[in-house]
Amino acid sequence: MARSPSPDLEPELDRPDDEGAGSEAEAPSRVRSGPDPEIYPVSLDEETIDPDAAKVVRRLVRHGYEAYLVGGCVRDLLVGKRPKDFDVVTNARPDDVRRLFRNSRIIGRRFRLVHVLFGGGKVIETATFRKAPPESNGRDGEDLLIRNDNVFGDAHEDAQRRDFTINALFYDLEHGEILDWVGGMPDIERRSVHTIGKPVVRFLEDPVRLLRAIKFSARLDFGIAPDVYDAIVCCRHALRRAAKPRLFEEVLRLMRGGAAHRSLWIAWETGVLDVLLPELSTYLADREDDDDTVWRILSEVDRRTQGEGAPLDDTVLWAALLLEPLREACHGERDRVEAAFHFLEPIVDRLNVPRRIAEPVRRVASMLPRLESGRVGRLSRSVHYSLALEIASLRGASLSGPPPPDVTDVLPSEATRRRRRRRRRTRIESGL
Ligand code: ATP
Ligand code: MG
Repeated sequence: MARSPSPDLEPELDRPDDEGAGSEAEAPSRVRSGPDPEIYPVSLDEETIDPDAAKVVRRLVRHGYEAYLVGGCVRDLLVGKRPKDFDVVTNARPDDVRRLFRNSRIIGRRFRLVHVLFGGGKVIETATFRKAPPESNGRDGEDLLIRNDNVFGDAHEDAQRRDFTINALFYDLEHGEILDWVGGMPDIERRSVHTIGKPVVRFLEDPVRLLRAIKFSARLDFGIAPDVYDAIVCCRHALRRAAKPRLFEEVLRLMRGGAAHRSLWIAWETGVLDVLLPELSTYLADREDDDDTVWRILSEVDRRTQGEGAPLDDTVLWAALLLEPLREACHGERDRVEAAFHFLEPIVDRLNVPRRIAEPVRRVASMLPRLESGRVGRLSRSVHYSLALEIASLRGASLSGPPPPDVTDVLPSEATRRRRRRRRRTRIESGL
């Protein structure tokens, strides 16, 4: 972890910074460099804004800096959802932020940002404006992949370097205004996911954005702009170049947010699933037309997530996602643990699935047939028994529950749907 160079400013990590921020508030006049944004007067309800995030913004502003709420929290507040967390962006440099908040620490080697720490483990991430790297600096010849995005910038540059217009809105707390340099407000109103700039370029710069587009469309129930949809289809193979741990994490995020069914459906429809999890997409292509078990399981995951108001356990999510093709792989095998291992091996390799998840998933897959046929026996002594019961109950509930909701309307009607030509294994094998 990077530390402040001044020893007399050592962070007091466990002490919430609760001095009366905001008490001296008189909205200071704004000084901004760069082009003017569209300004939308939108007084977001203070009750819905995290008081500690507001405190961070207000203290920065009081000390003469520009500071805003930004990203997912602004987007979620505008669509009436409760934000997961609140991020702050400012023109103060990390060391300046660090100096203003005793309860803070600087993190990150490449791009340094500040975590301001509050009670209960709450962290308000406070980043300095940065800009997209110039092509000669951050990129590699024709290759668009961004390898270095560690350049400070202005507010408008910080907005431009973000991924989607709906994620690049800045909320000015003092003035009760949204600052919009990228056309994000109209996209919030028309409920549509648009990249900032050309979709193909933005996806090739960072292919994980493909999965983020799917996630936001599914979670917010937003459409995907037709050119963005086409770029997802066209750039899906670039996902192979993304860092594996990021892919692993992003698949989990698709599963966690209460919209796993919609997310996976879009991933399948766009062909992204063929690149990410061909084992699952082949299974989906091969199943009988009336077999909707995979979709039922995913909507049961969503029902439970919404019911609990929190994501299910990561291992449960992976097991649920891969359950049907895993069952098929184990079916009729004498050594089911071994069969599950062979099935999971390429997935573990492709997505860097950690052993703490892969191991219980394959054990549970091998236990399920006996569990479902009531032959529990010594299985009940397994450390994975309760997980196996949870998965069996999830599958049972999904099969006996209502049919999965229709998600085929996620995409705007004008989007060029590109149903992939699915090669059925059975046909290939039988020479059809
Ligand atoms: P969530 O509710 O899932 O946290 P979020 O929009 O807050 O959604 P984060 O991953 O927390 O997503 O990222 C915070 C912000 O950082 C985003 O809103 C976006 O502006 C920017 N961002 C994140 N990932 C990227 C990326 N790959 N490329 C460009 N900008 C990004
Ligand atoms: Mg976030």
